[in-house]
Amino acid sequence: MDRRHFLGTVGLAAAAGATLPLVSSCSNGRIGEIKESYQADLLVVGGGPSGTCAAIAAARRGAKVLLVDSGNCLGGMGTKGLVGPFMTCYDTSGDNMIIRGLFEEVVDRLVAEGGAIHPSKVRQGTEFTAWISEGHDHCTPFDPEILKKVYDRMCAEAGVKVLFHASFVTPIMKGRKIQGAVLLTPSGLEAARAKMVIDATGDGTVAYYAGAPCVFGDPESGRVQPASLFFRINNVDTYRLIDEVVPHLPEFRRVDGVSYRCLHWRVAEAEAAGEWDLSRKSVNIWRSVEKDQWVVNCTRIHGVDATNCESLTDAEVEGRRQVEELMNFFHKYVPGCEVATLMGTGATMGIRESRHVHGDFVLPVQDLIDGVIPDDNIVLAANSIDVHGAMGGPAGGLYMPIKKNMYGVPYRCLLPKNVDGLLLAGRCISADSPAAGAIRVMPPAMAIGQAAGVAAALCLENGISPSSLDYADLKPALLEQKVYLG
Ligand SMILES: Cc1cc2nc3c(=O)[nH]c(=O)nc-3n(C[C@H](O)[C@H](O)[C@H](O)COP(=O)(O)OP(=O)(O)OC[C@H]3O[C@@H](n4cnc5c(N)ncnc54)[C@H](O)[C@@H]3O)c2cc1C
Repeated sequence: MDRRHFLGTVGLAAAAGATLPLVSSCSNGRIGEIKESYQADLLVVGGGPSGTCAAIAAARRGAKVLLVDSGNCLGGMGTKGLVGPFMTCYDTSGDNMIIRGLFEEVVDRLVAEGGAIHPSKVRQGTEFTAWISEGHDHCTPFDPEILKKVYDRMCAEAGVKVLFHASFVTPIMKGRKIQGAVLLTPSGLEAARAKMVIDATGDGTVAYYAGAPCVFGDPESGRVQPASLFFRINNVDTYRLIDEVVPHLPEFRRVDGVSYRCLHWRVAEAEAAGEWDLSRKSVNIWRSVEKDQWVVNCTRIHGVDATNCESLTDAEVEGRRQVEELMNFFHKYVPGCEVATLMGTGATMGIRESRHVHGDFVLPVQDLIDGVIPDDNIVLAANSIDVHGAMGGPAGGLYMPIKKNMYGVPYRCLLPKNVDGLLLAGRCISADSPAAGAIRVMPPAMAIGQAAGVAAALCLENGISPSSLDYADLKPALLEQKVYLG
């Protein structure tokens, strides 16, 4: 019996309301029966940017929400993974902030606490965007520690019940209908029953085990985007670093999908000396809120399967090896970074791509490029198509600007096939691989999460399933929560 079938059997037993069988016997009884611990209207699995916004949005409409995460904080990649800044929330003209709602509220709270620079003040081609001058206007540098607190407070204020150290194990199913999940917590196995569930795991784990069709990465090439372990450094002489980079800006270029951007001339020196074996040819280094702190997005690990424990473990070890190499590079080759200190690496490997859950509609990248605003639009965004490592050699990437100044994301992308009572949010929504390369970034992920939360609450209020929700009801409910839809 494979894992999925075995766990599915457990799920059916739970649905029948019986005391669940031992999943694993243990002489001290620590992992024994599955305890009936939680009952909610809505269970949100995954407290990343999408799941947190989904939970807050639903709770603000009065739903009783349980938000669970396997880690120790909210924010997912943006906090545990140290990923940042928030990518653009503006249209391509650079004049209009189009991702608003909960995203804007999070930004405003961060700014008020000194934990972010408002995106209106951040222009591309500067140290805040690793001097990248296309598709990165109005990013939002933020402090991950302050972001954790902001999310904690917003959930508490909305009445969301949050559980950390709670890992999703298997869905509780009754036929096609999901009725909650079994969680592994420090107390053992615990059942969390709910009328509706949102899968915000990034990896589509809930949908997969509930029986929704999924594809892994790009089915044509069989590849996923490379993973990256982020890290933060301080003790940087920021003015000397800026003086080092700015004279080289005219040399920034892209050849066969490979970026020769920030510090590529120093990488070339290190390579010539046999002191560089990373696949990137430049170093993406982003100034953070504090003047001497920078975020480094440069490690690159290919072929990581985030749904496989051994693959992830190997990636974490390789990521840390690459961080060590990069710290040596900074100390030896980069003016202003001679005594830079490693503040910390992400508590988790940064996973850009794993499963895409499929619904009846799979968002094609061409719709984003063409600027399609669908009839059931829930989000406006303008992030360019950014597929790392997709072209040419392993260091290559696919970068496509969009033809209009924004595009939409249809509500249909949140509906997985074959499962009732389940909505998708964030990175795993029903989109093809390159489309996901655009809408996976945090501002759209948060907006998608907010829409999923509002939709779930409306379904609960009306006793209907997500596929029966009328967009004529959803749109005003989103506008009520200050979502911008044009
Ligand atoms: C290397 C890298 C660089 C990036 N750079 C940027 C950037 O500069 N700017 C930007 O805006 N975006 C960036 N992104 C994209 C962005 O960070 C993610 O795509 C975004 O965080 C996705 O949000 P999410 O809520 O779908 O998933 P995640 O942020 O991955 O959150 C998922 C949450 O679910 C939890 N979870 C997963 N499985 C389980 C389980 N079984 N049980 C319980 N909890 C579970 C996890 O602990 C996590 O907290 C980057 C991503 C990566 C990987």
